[in-house]
Amino acid sequence: MFESRKLTRWDNKFLLEAIFWSRSSPDQQTQCGCVLVKDKTMLSSGYNGFIRDVDDDALPKSRPEKYPYMIHAEANAIYNCTRLGRSTLGASAYVTAIPCLYCLQALYQCGIREIIFTDVSDPKCVIGNEDYHKILKMVSETVNIFYIPSNQIDDKDFIESAVMLSSKRVDK
Ligand SMILES: [Zn+2]
Repeated sequence: MFESRKLTRWDNKFLLEAIFWSRSSPDQQTQCGCVLVKDKTMLSSGYNGFIRDVDDDALPKSRPEKYPYMIHAEANAIYNCTRLGRSTLGASAYVTAIPCLYCLQALYQCGIREIIFTDVSDPKCVIGNEDYHKILKMVSETVNIFYIPSNQIDDKDFIESAVMLSSKRVDK
């Protein structure tokens, strides 16, 4: 379903960067991170969270109450890029989990050229249904989508601490 790619040291850096940002998410169940990159330079970062400057305790942080409020990491990375007046055209998106249907469409729609995702985060969005596959097929005609398993990313300690933090939050 996805293309394979030999992990470069730049991929490694930007996947770690996405993991780093995932740790800022106030979500009690899933922490996702995304960075947009062009020409080996980071344009913006995003994690799943609430609208800017809202107290993290003011809105629900778990399912299903969180759904109307939680902005996905990829969407926030796009919004943050826009705030700074930077073009997303031709950029790459590094994501800690497979993008959901809406984020997949959003990344495509703003001109992202490639999506590189790993499996550090564990979102519960539906990705296996017919709608998803229909859009995925259309999107992947112009966007290269690569999956890099987390065990290929070089920095085990960093990844394990992100996963641990994630499971700790679920227990809360
Ligand atoms: Zn999403």
